[in-house]
Amino acid sequence: MPSEPLVSLGDIETAARRIKGQVTRTPCIPSYSVEEQTHTPFYLKLETTQPTGAFKLRGATNHILSLSEDERARGVTACSTGNHGRAVAYAAQNLGIRAVICMSNLVPQNKVEAVKALGAEVCIIGQSQDDAQVEMDRLVAEEGLIAIPPFDGREVIAGQGTIGLELLEDLPELDIALIPLSGGGLMAGMASALKLKRPDTRIIGISMERGAAMHASLQAGKPVVVTEEATLADSLGGGIGLKNKFTFPICQSLVDETVLLSEAEILAGMRHLYFHERIIAEGAAAVGMAAVICGKVRLDKHDCAATVITGNNVDMQQFHQFMGDVK
Ligand SMILES: *Cc1c(COP(=O)(O)O)cnc(C)c1O
Repeated sequence: MPSEPLVSLGDIETAARRIKGQVTRTPCIPSYSVEEQTHTPFYLKLETTQPTGAFKLRGATNHILSLSEDERARGVTACSTGNHGRAVAYAAQNLGIRAVICMSNLVPQNKVEAVKALGAEVCIIGQSQDDAQVEMDRLVAEEGLIAIPPFDGREVIAGQGTIGLELLEDLPELDIALIPLSGGGLMAGMASALKLKRPDTRIIGISMERGAAMHASLQAGKPVVVTEEATLADSLGGGIGLKNKFTFPICQSLVDETVLLSEAEILAGMRHLYFHERIIAEGAAAVGMAAVICGKVRLDKHDCAATVITGNNVDMQQFHQFMGDVK
C-alpha cells in the first residue's frame, strides 16, 4: 500500500457523513443457499435497494455535495445511458441542481425516458457514445457545467467506498470481499476502506471474459484498451481510460486477485439469485454469486465472505426470458 493513499479513510468517512440521508444505508443479508452448499457464511450487500436501483448514487451524490455554491449553480453533466446517468440525474434533482445527461441517437427511448423522469435534461447527439462524450466536453468547456466522472474521481471513489465502511459495521469479521469490477470506482473505494480498516481482508475483483478492461490493464501493468463486446454484465463494459489517474493505481496496489467469468456462469449467478434468494440482479451484480456457485472462488469454511449485489436495472422482458423455468 502506498504511504500516502490516493483516497484516504478520511475521504471515505467524510463521504459517509455527507451522503447520509441522501442515499440508502443498505442491508447486508446472509445467503442461506450458499451457506448450505459451501458451509461458509456468505453475505449479500443489497445496493439494489438504492432508489435508483444501483450503488452509483453514492459516488454521484458525494461528488455533487463536495461542489462549491458557485459550481452547484452552474449545473452538472454526465455522459451515460446506464446507472451512472440515472445516479447523476437523481442526485441532482434531490439537491435542486441542474443536470444534463448526454446520450447518442442510438440509445433506446425507454432509457431516455428513465433519465428524464428523474428530472434531468437529456441531450441527444450523434451516433455513438463518443459523440455524446464530445458534447459533454463542450458543455464543460463552453457552458461551465461540472462533469461528474463515472469512476475515476476522488469524490466518486470515496462515495463508493462507503459501502466498505457499512460492510465492516455489519461484518467486523469479514475475510473475503468479492467485488464486481469495471472502471474500478467501486473497487477502488471499497478496497481502500477495507484494506485501511482491516488489512488482511482478501479483495477479489470479478469481471466478464468479454472485454474486461481493468483485468487486461492490471496484467499489462498499464491502462490498455480492450475491444468492447456484448455481455450479460453490460454495466461492466467500457474502458478504464488511458489517462486513468486513480482507479488503476489503487486497484494495482490493493486488489489481491481478479477472476473472469463466462456468459453461462454470469447467467447461473443471476438465476441462482432469483430462484434461491428471490433477488432480481443485473448481470454485473450477479458476478460475485456466480464466482462462488461456479467454483471460480473457493471459500474455506472458516472464512466470512461477502459480495455486493450492485444493481437491478434489467430489462424485465429480457430478464423473464433469461430466467425461463424453475430448475
Ligand atoms: C458501474 C457498475 C459496476 C462497476 O463499477 P465500477 O466502479 O465501474 O467498477 C458494477 N455493477 C453495476 C450494477 C454498475 O452499475
